[in-house]
Amino acid sequence: MKKIVIIGGGFAGLNAAKGLGNCEDAEVLLIDRSNYHLFQPLLYQVAMAGLSPAEIAVPLRSILSRYKNIRILQGEALGVNPDEKYVTTTIGRFDYDYLILACGAFHTYFGNEQWEPHAPGLKTLEQATEIRRRVLSAFEQAEAEPDTEIMSRHLTFIIVGGGPTGVELAGALGELSRHTLAKDFKNIDPTLARVILIEAGPRILPSFSEKLTRKAARSLEYLGVEVWTNKRVTLVDDTGIEIGKEKLLATTVIWAAGIRAAKFLTGVAVDTDPQGRVIVLPDLSLKGHPEIFVAGDQARLSDGKGKPLPGIAPVAQQQGEYLARSICGNIRGEIGKPFQYKDRGQLATIGRSRAVLEYGWLQLSGFPAWFMWVVIHIYFLIGFQNRLFVFLRWASSYLSFSRGARLVVNKTWRLYPDEEEKEKK
Ligand SMILES: Cc1cc2nc3c(=O)[nH]c(=O)nc-3n(C[C@H](O)[C@H](O)[C@H](O)COP(=O)(O)OP(=O)(O)OC[C@H]3O[C@@H](n4cnc5c(N)ncnc54)[C@H](O)[C@@H]3O)c2cc1C
Repeated sequence: MKKIVIIGGGFAGLNAAKGLGNCEDAEVLLIDRSNYHLFQPLLYQVAMAGLSPAEIAVPLRSILSRYKNIRILQGEALGVNPDEKYVTTTIGRFDYDYLILACGAFHTYFGNEQWEPHAPGLKTLEQATEIRRRVLSAFEQAEAEPDTEIMSRHLTFIIVGGGPTGVELAGALGELSRHTLAKDFKNIDPTLARVILIEAGPRILPSFSEKLTRKAARSLEYLGVEVWTNKRVTLVDDTGIEIGKEKLLATTVIWAAGIRAAKFLTGVAVDTDPQGRVIVLPDLSLKGHPEIFVAGDQARLSDGKGKPLPGIAPVAQQQGEYLARSICGNIRGEIGKPFQYKDRGQLATIGRSRAVLEYGWLQLSGFPAWFMWVVIHIYFLIGFQNRLFVFLRWASSYLSFSRGARLVVNKTWRLYPDEEEKEKK
C-alpha cells in the first residue's frame, strides 16, 4: 500500500481523492483547514444574499464517505520534508509516498494589504457572509440616516476589479438594489443606489472577446451599474476610495482585483511565477521531486501554445482527476502521459438572467448564456440535496425577484467579552 497525502479539498484535491478512492493500492489522507468543500463559483451568491452558506459547501466527510481507503483530517499544512517524505501540519506529522498540494489561491492587494479591512475580498465563506453583512447593513444605515450626504455614501457600492467575480458581484448588487429591495424601505429608495465597477484595464472581462465584453458592459448598465475602465484605485480607507486625486465616498467597497496563489509550504525550494504559482513539470510534479505534485490554482502550467492555464475550476478538476490516474498507474509501474487540458470555455453571469459564454468559436450572451450557466452550475454543484435546494431557490427567485438569505448576521457574537478581560486583570 502506498501512502498518498493530499493537502486541500478544493476542486483539485477533492477530484484527486475521488479518483484515488478507486485505486486499490492507495491509502489516501486528505487534509484541509476547513471541514468542507466550497463551490467557489457561487460564493458571490452568498455575498449578495441569494444563497445560504450551507447551499454551496458540503462536508468533505460526507462527499468521500463511501471510499474505504480515504481518511480525512481537518488541519493546516505548514511544511514539507522532501528528503524524509513527510508533511508537518497543525495536527501532526504525516509520512507520504506521494504528495499532492492543492491549496488554491487568495485575493491580493498588490502590496496594499492594509486595505483589506476596508475592502474585503471574496474567496471564503467567512468573507462572503461579511460582504453580505456590509451590503445589507449599508441599506439599513441609509434608511436610518437623516443627513442626505451620509445617506448617499451608504448607498454607494464600489467593486474594484472587472474580472468575472467583480462582474458577477456588480450584476447581483445592481439587481438587489433595483429589484429585490426596491419596495422594502420607507425612507430610502434602494433603486437610487450607485453600484460602481472599477477596472484598471481598458475593458472588463479581459479574457473574453471584445464583443462579449461590450455586451457584458451593456448588461451591467441595464442593471444600473456604472462601469469605469482605465481607472486604477490608489487608496482605500474607511471613507471610500481614491483614484489619483479623485475621491469617491462609499461605505461599502469590495475587492475583486487580484489573485495570488497560496503560500507554498516551507521546506522545498520551488520556482514561482509573478502570481506566486508554482511552476510544475508537464506531469504536475516538482522538478527534482517526482513524488510531489502541485495542482489547481496553486500550480502554473502552460498549454500547448505557451499560454498559462487559467485559474478556473475545470483546470483544477481535470488536474485532480489526472493526478489520481497517473499516481495509481505509477504505483502499478505504468509510465504516465503529460497532463492535457480540455478547454471547457468560460462563463460569467450578470444578474438574474444574463451571462456571457465563450467556448471555442461559440459566443453566447443574454438569456441563452445564462441558461447554460445555470445548467452547468447545478450539474457541478456537489451533493444531490444541494443541487435540488439551489435549483428550487433559483427557480423561486427567478419568478419572484426575491432573495432568501437577506440576514444581517452580527459581527459581535460573544455575550461576555468583558468577563474575560476582568479575569486577565
Ligand atoms: C468568487 C469566485 C468565483 C469564481 N468563479 C468561477 C467560475 O465561475 N468558474 C470557474 O471555473 N472558476 C471560478 N472560480 C475559480 C475556481 O473556484 C478556482 O479556480 C478553483 O477553486 C481552484 O481549485 P483548487 O482546488 O486549486 O483550490 P480551492 O478550490 O481554492 O481549494 C483549496 C483548498 O485548500 C485548502 N487549503 C489551503 N491552504 C491549506 C493549507 N495550508 N493546509 C490545508 N488546507 C489548505 C483550502 O481550505 C481549500 O479547501 C472562482 C473563484 C472565486 C473565488
